[in-house]
Amino acid sequence: MRTKSKNRPIKLKYKKLGRQRAWGQAYKETNLIEVEKNTKGKLRLRCILHEAYHCIAPEWSESRVRKSEKLISDLLWNQNYRQVDNYIK
Ligand SMILES: [Zn+2]
Repeated sequence: MRTKSKNRPIKLKYKKLGRQRAWGQAYKETNLIEVEKNTKGKLRLRCILHEAYHCIAPEWSESRVRKSEKLISDLLWNQNYRQVDNYIK
């Protein structure tokens, strides 16, 4: 399934998603991703990448998204990419 939304920028919102739900949510039609507000560090990085992959490659299975998210988050994390502490959004 290929859609025009694949080439649009991905918008990210931090939101309280609640404990019963996942850490993130992707709206593939609009390229909007929501990430749990209470995440930080590597978990947040993984959530962002995970939901972004759902927008970039909507045809991918959940397990393929998880594997790719882990590969890239490990790569970036091991290169010391971090979100600065005073980043509030
Ligand atoms: Zn997923």
